[in-house]
Amino acid sequence: MLYRGRTVAVVGSGEEAVRDGDFLKSIGCSVLRFAENGRYEISGGEKAEKLIFRGEEYPVDCVFIIKDTVSVTKLVPGLEYGDGGIVTDRRMATAVPGVFAAGDCTGKPFQLPKAAGEGNIAALSACEYIDSRKKQ
Ligand SMILES: Cc1cc2nc3c(=O)[nH]c(=O)nc-3n(C[C@H](O)[C@H](O)[C@H](O)COP(=O)(O)OP(=O)(O)OC[C@H]3O[C@@H](n4cnc5c(N)ncnc54)[C@H](O)[C@@H]3O)c2cc1C
Repeated sequence: MLYRGRTVAVVGSGEEAVRDGDFLKSIGCSVLRFAENGRYEISGGEKAEKLIFRGEEYPVDCVFIIKDTVSVTKLVPGLEYGDGGIVTDRRMATAVPGVFAAGDCTGKPFQLPKAAGEGNIAALSACEYIDSRKKQ
């Protein structure tokens, strides 16, 4: 919402870049899309002011860089994925013993308080797991 009514650049070629560009447009941003590979340069002072691509300068208030991500199923073999995220129980334990997940990778809502709370539980569960292994 910080960029409502402003000009933003969305750099990325995947589906997510298209979706995020559409979303920014829907909240009132003027969106410049950049889907081509190449060298992008951002210039400005404390904030982004210009995006430079192939010698052209584009005045912008913000640049969103949408990178491709590694699918979670490839990240750790054996993880279960469902309903938009890594499946966990209430202790944030995944299907792989000793692997705990927290935050955006476990699915919606993508919000800081959820990530912090889940991270807290996951850290405590990981400590318990390590302690239980030491006793064996
Ligand atoms: C523009 C924007 C605005 C937002 N505004 C709000 C808001 O106002 N309120 C709110 O509650 N939430 C907001 N969110 C959502 C919030 O930022 C996320 O929900 C939260 O940061 C998720 O935390 P996380 O720890 O799960 O993931 P992240 O914060 O994304 O952290 C994941 C970390 O893992 C690193 N990483 C990724 N892959 C690897 C790898 N293979 N190896 C090592 N490190 C890796 C990344 O570099 C990153 O540092 C916003 C998000 C965005 C993008």
